Amino acid sequence: MKAGPPYKAPDADTRAEVRALRDLLRAVGTDAAHNEQVLRRFHERELALLTAGDLPRLLECLTSGMRASFGLDSVKLKLIDPFHVIRDLLADRFGAEDCLARDIELCTDVAAVRAAFDDSHSPWLGEWDEPRHLPLFGLRLRGSVALLPLRHVDGLAGFLCLGSRDRGRFGHGQATDFLAHMASVAAVCLENAVNRERLRLLGLTDTLTGLYNRRHLEHRIEQEVTRARRYAQSLACLFVDADHFKRINDLYGHAAGDQVLVALAQRLRARLRTSDLATRYGGEEFAVLLPHTGLDSAESLAEEIRSGIAAEPVILPGGPSVPVSVSIGVAALGDDVRQPPDAAGRALLDAADRAVYIAKQAGRNRVACERRTGG
Ligand code: GH3
Ligand code: MG
Ligand code: MG
Repeated sequence: MKAGPPYKAPDADTRAEVRALRDLLRAVGTDAAHNEQVLRRFHERELALLTAGDLPRLLECLTSGMRASFGLDSVKLKLIDPFHVIRDLLADRFGAEDCLARDIELCTDVAAVRAAFDDSHSPWLGEWDEPRHLPLFGLRLRGSVALLPLRHVDGLAGFLCLGSRDRGRFGHGQATDFLAHMASVAAVCLENAVNRERLRLLGLTDTLTGLYNRRHLEHRIEQEVTRARRYAQSLACLFVDADHFKRINDLYGHAAGDQVLVALAQRLRARLRTSDLATRYGGEEFAVLLPHTGLDSAESLAEEIRSGIAAEPVILPGGPSVPVSVSIGVAALGDDVRQPPDAAGRALLDAADRAVYIAKQAGRNRVACERRTGG
């Protein structure tokens, strides 16, 4: 066997070189571990966006979820919503008063949004600039920010604004690939969630009058009962039934009857608050839920609706004017909380329905109240 070359102790230069190489390797290892961690966090966030399920959860995922996951101090979402589509979808989900979370702003003016951001094509990263960034975040971060445009096929959907108190967190020359990728995933998810929500709503609205349908009412009444009980608020219900509607059809024709129903729906809606829920319950019957409303106020409102409808015949386009009246039954949620919310909701509707019957018996074109509804 041949002996290897004789061992020679390394000199000082070689030792220094080895030390430097070892440090470099360690640094590369630390960087790789850090990058892997960052990549994992981005993947987790993207997965959360893709599996968020519905619009409210997606919005939460984009704001508070993002803030927690990336350890940020503020996350704001500006969405362009010129036709109030998102606002209406959210109002339907959350109820009008708490429809918008603090971190989400719906902007109707596309030009103003564009003007607030320099670049609507790629992410902008950099240091805090008080005049520009204070209006976006609404608080003084004085660190650094990342502004990510959310773009979908039709153009700009909005911006996701990430803010940190750390000046070095988002640097001007920093790579933006991960952020840009996440923003494009977010934009697609947003578009899909809005479309899904619209489709869901289509199944819950009546095509003739544009009001919600009975299915939606039955779903919402349970939520409204739960909410009313939780906050010790009153909840009332009106049942509105057109009088002798069969005669209207017989006299003027079914198409004219349809137009009268549309007019009735408009008149009903015109007297309601945004937090009230008006539905076409069936044929010529409408049911209205009135949150924060006791029996007496509901009765006064019903009387206003009834007299308003009776006072003005419906003028059909190019045709005759059709006198129409309605009978309205009024009921309010009782205070027996032993009844489960769905049963209490049904009892409330039944009570309003019974009251309509009383109004019909009493001669029509009048309001009747059911004073007791149990739960
Ligand atoms: P009452 O005062 O007792 O309520 O009398 P009414 O004729 O309104 O009640 P009834 O329940 O006997 O008849 C309801 C009528 O409403 C019969 C039906 O043809 C009509 N109707 C139901 N849905 C529609 C609709 O979508 N369009 C039209 N044009 N008519 C409808
Ligand atoms: Mg009827
Ligand atoms: Mg009727």
